[in-house]
Amino acid sequence: MNMTVLQEAIGAWEAATCIKFFEMEVLDERAEFMEFVGKKGCYASVGYRKGKNTRISVDTCAGRGVTHEIAHALGLQHEQSRSDRNDHIILVADNIEVGKEFNFALLKTVNYNIPYDYYSLMHYYDRAASGDDKRTMLARDPRFQLVMGDGKKISFWNAKLVNTAYGCIDDWLASCKQESEPCKNGGYTQKDCSCACPLGTTGDKCQVYNMSYRDALIKQISPYTSVITTSGTEVVSFGYPDDSPSAETKYTQIMRAPECHRAVVKFSDFELAPRNPTEDKICEFGSLEIRSDVTVAGGKLFCGKEIEKGTVFKSDKTDLIFHYKNPNFVQFGTENKYKGYKATFTVEPIPNCR
Ligand SMILES: [Zn+2]
Repeated sequence: MNMTVLQEAIGAWEAATCIKFFEMEVLDERAEFMEFVGKKGCYASVGYRKGKNTRISVDTCAGRGVTHEIAHALGLQHEQSRSDRNDHIILVADNIEVGKEFNFALLKTVNYNIPYDYYSLMHYYDRAASGDDKRTMLARDPRFQLVMGDGKKISFWNAKLVNTAYGCIDDWLASCKQESEPCKNGGYTQKDCSCACPLGTTGDKCQVYNMSYRDALIKQISPYTSVITTSGTEVVSFGYPDDSPSAETKYTQIMRAPECHRAVVKFSDFELAPRNPTEDKICEFGSLEIRSDVTVAGGKLFCGKEIEKGTVFKSDKTDLIFHYKNPNFVQFGTENKYKGYKATFTVEPIPNCR
């Protein structure tokens, strides 16, 4: 077992909550404790078990693994199993590998009014449990399609959930001599009596609401991700045409028409790295995926010069969704010398729509 990684993960939970971890003495005969084991695999049983230990196997956990497994032991389920997940994701049953459906069990979780969090430490990524690398989960807020599962740290909402469930906040309120929660907009009183404020709020009591948590979050983790609603807007790739990103980049652009209208996007320029002629002819060095609706799991994938000038794409309903990706060119000793793309967004009415 990697003790440094384990101690870092424990330290992260101790810093974010009121929970303290102690190493047990050899003669300690208590039946209920967390047992970290150095077995192969990365898993934990969920929550307190009366009269039993809660086992966490962390030997082969990579990345966020240990922090994530401790969360399970503390009682957290996967985000995509939350009782309200159907309001936030669409499961693609056809793409889930047979025998792996349990990963998407809908559980009667207690959520304490804490919002669903695509960037939770507990969220899987969008192709999880697929046998053939297809999407198993679609974000109803498509800005988060490419980033769900990327959350590597204890999120604000993960911490608030644990601090609520374990009574940390009540204890802190009492020791800070507060009869009710002085922090606004979802913020909460923490150990030093200051407010822990959600993203999108400022002020010592989180009283200034600047934008929603999700708006602030996506701005922070994927600044080029945008929702475009103004007909006539020119839609370009990041850095178009002379400064396309050579560092690893991914973002989503959503062209959103009003109710009963379609988004119409007409390309005037398109140039990404060409398809790899060998490796299954994949768009390895950059791709644009176009989805005609939030319910479409796999869109059309383009690279090279595959979209000719004048080509038009239309949404099925209101949203046309672009997912752009390119890998780290520098790692391959090269740079991104391709122009990217330029298109114009307009809208048109959907006949007989009401
Ligand atoms: Zn897990």
